[in-house]
Amino acid sequence: MERKKYDVALMIGHWGKPDHPADRGAIGEIVEAYGIVDYALALAKSLEKRGLATVLLSYGTYRERQEWANSHGIRIFFACHLNSAEKPGRYGLIRWDARGGERNKRWAERIAQVSEEALQYPWQVWRYEEGDRGFSNIRWTKMPAFLLEPAFVSGETLYLFYAHMNEWAERVAEVVSSLLNLQLREKEPKIEME
Ligand SMILES: [Zn+2]
Repeated sequence: MERKKYDVALMIGHWGKPDHPADRGAIGEIVEAYGIVDYALALAKSLEKRGLATVLLSYGTYRERQEWANSHGIRIFFACHLNSAEKPGRYGLIRWDARGGERNKRWAERIAQVSEEALQYPWQVWRYEEGDRGFSNIRWTKMPAFLLEPAFVSGETLYLFYAHMNEWAERVAEVVSSLLNLQLREKEPKIEME
């Protein structure tokens, strides 16, 4: 049995796309790709502090990165982006993969809840499925997978996001850690039956 090396994958949106090396995503007061690195690094630090080995997936097509995650025992996958200003009022956004059923929805709601508390602006949790824009960010994953867009690239919430980024990362890492522990406990009886 292959030894598991990583727990969490953060797929860094807009970096390392073989066919679009210059894609940096939405441009507002900040450039999306740069903002993604800022928060992914904060989140990775907080996750590792809790003993969760984290990998930043920053090269390859989105499909290749997801297939890598599938073959390396990744337990939870986040596609990291920021929101452009196209839909005012959407604020923090986490899309849960409908294929994961109620569990993914529950997990997304927990993450959204602590994010709202840390950042002081509303989050929305959206069902995400085949045919939705950007679904290729998580389409090929086989573990609980989420598209994360914690802030806009411009506007008032961007400043709140940067002001509270470390606290946000701590809260999200705490939730991810407890969800993964819970998942292990839930799985135990099944493993014993086999
Ligand atoms: Zn993006």
